[in-house]
Amino acid sequence: GDLVTVLFHLGEMATATESLDEATFEVLGEELGYRIQIVSPEDEDRELLEGFSIDLDQEAEDEGDDVLEIRPPVVTVMGHVDHGKTRLLDAIRNANVVEGEAGGITQHIGAYQVWHEHEGIERAITFIDTPGHEAFTAMRARGAQVTDIAILVVAADDGIMPQTVEALNHAQAANVPIVVAVNKVDKEDANPSKVRAQLTEYGLVAEEFGGDTMFVDVSARNNLNIDSLIEAVLLTADAGLDLRANPNKEARGIAIEAKLDKGRGAVATVLIQSGTLRVGDPIVAGTAYGRVRAMLDENGQVVTEAEPSRPVQVQGLSSVPRAGDTFIVTEEDRTARQIAEKREAVERNASLAKSRKRISLEDFTRALEEGKVESLNLIIKGDVSGAVEALEESLLKIDVDDSVQLRIIHRGVGAITESDVNLATVDNAIIIGFNVRPDTKARERAAREGVDVRFYSVIYGALEDIENSLKGMLKPEF
Ligand code: GDP
Repeated sequence: GDLVTVLFHLGEMATATESLDEATFEVLGEELGYRIQIVSPEDEDRELLEGFSIDLDQEAEDEGDDVLEIRPPVVTVMGHVDHGKTRLLDAIRNANVVEGEAGGITQHIGAYQVWHEHEGIERAITFIDTPGHEAFTAMRARGAQVTDIAILVVAADDGIMPQTVEALNHAQAANVPIVVAVNKVDKEDANPSKVRAQLTEYGLVAEEFGGDTMFVDVSARNNLNIDSLIEAVLLTADAGLDLRANPNKEARGIAIEAKLDKGRGAVATVLIQSGTLRVGDPIVAGTAYGRVRAMLDENGQVVTEAEPSRPVQVQGLSSVPRAGDTFIVTEEDRTARQIAEKREAVERNASLAKSRKRISLEDFTRALEEGKVESLNLIIKGDVSGAVEALEESLLKIDVDDSVQLRIIHRGVGAITESDVNLATVDNAIIIGFNVRPDTKARERAAREGVDVRFYSVIYGALEDIENSLKGMLKPEF
C-alpha cells in the first residue's frame, strides 16, 4: 500500500496486485533511496538455497569432463489424439522386456526405462509415459525441462492434424529435437510419404529429402520397426546432444508425477538429473520434504540407488509435490524441512497477494460486525460541485458510535477515472458516483481490482446505504 501511494504521487497508476516493469522499480528505488536489484524466480530459488549452502550453479562451474558421465536420453511422446501415442509407448516398453527377468509387474509410475543394444553397447533410454504435450508444457511453465528428445507420432492414414502442429511447436519452442514416428503403416490407406511432405512445411525435413530429421515408419499395433525408432532416438541424441551428468554427488532432479497412496502415503516419481539418489537420503521436492524411505522402479522392483535419467518412485515425503517441482538432496533432514517451509511461505505470500480482495460495502458491514475494521473510506465523485459538497456534508453528519469512523479520502467533480480507482485500491475505499459513471478504463480496472463502485442520483439514496452500512445493517445486493 505504501509503495502504491508513492507511485501514485509519482504519477504512476499502479495497484498492489499489479506487475511493474523494471524501469518503474528503478524510479521507485530512486524516490525512496534504495538500490533496486531485479531478481528472477530462478535467482530467488537460488538465493533461498544459498542460505543453506546449496549452490545450483555448482554443476556449471566445477564439473569438468572428468566427472561427467553419459546419461540416457529422456524422451516424451507427443502427437494428435488417437494417432497411437499410448499404444506406441506400450509397444516400446513390451519390445524391451527382457525375457525371464525376475517377474516384476508393470507399474505406471510416469516414466520407464528400456535398454537397447546400439553398436554393441547396451544403452538405456528413459520414456516419460504420460503422452501428449500438456504435461510437457505444464512442467516447462514451472521452469522444468526434463525432455531431451520428442517423438512426434503421426498416423499415416490421417496425416498432420491440429495437435500435431501444436506438439511440434511446443517441442521446437523448447529446443527439443524431434524424431517422427509415422504410425499405423499397417493400414491400407496409410500414406507415409504424404506425412513427410506435409511436415517439411513445419521445418521437419526427412533425411531422405536432404533434411536432418529422422522419420521412422512404424506400426505400434504390429510392433513393426520399434527397434528402428529407438535406434533413431539414440542417433539423434548422439548427433547433437551432450547428455552427461555427474553421478557422484547428492542427487537433484524433477518430480514428474505424484499422488497420495492409501497405504504408502505421498509417493512421487522423480527423474534424477544429476547425482545419485539413495534410500535414506534427506530430500526436498517443492514444498514436500522427508527421507527416502523406499524406491521402486517401473516394474515394482525395489531400487536402492538411482543414477541420472533414472525414474524412480520415492516414498517418504511429507506431502505430494507437483509435476515439475525440482527436488534436491540435502545433508541433513533439518535443512530439507527448512527449505520446504521457506518455499511454502514464499508461495503462501504470493497466493495471498493474488487473492487479496478490495472491500465492498457489504464486506464492510460484515467486517464491522466481526470487529475487523474501524473506518469506512469513501471517494465521492459527482456531476456538480454543489452536489458533491452536499453529499459529503450529509455523510459526515451520520451519527455512528465511536468504534467506527467515516473517512472521505477524495472528492471531485467529473467522471470516475482510473486514478480514482487506483486510490480506492490503495486505501481500500468505496467509490460513490453521484450522477456520474466511470470511464471505460476505470470500469475495467475497478472490475479487475474488485473495487466497489456505487451509483446514486439522489443524495438520500447514498446516505441511506452508507448509514445502514455503518450501522451494520446493509442488506447484501443480489
Ligand atoms: P493416442 O490417443 O495417441 O494415445 O492413441 P492410442 O494409442 O490410444 O491409439 C488410438 C487408436 O489407434 C487405438 O484404437 C489403437 O489401437 C489404434 N492404433 C494405434 N497404433 C496403431 C497402429 O499402428 N495400427 C493400427 N491399425 N491401429 C493403431
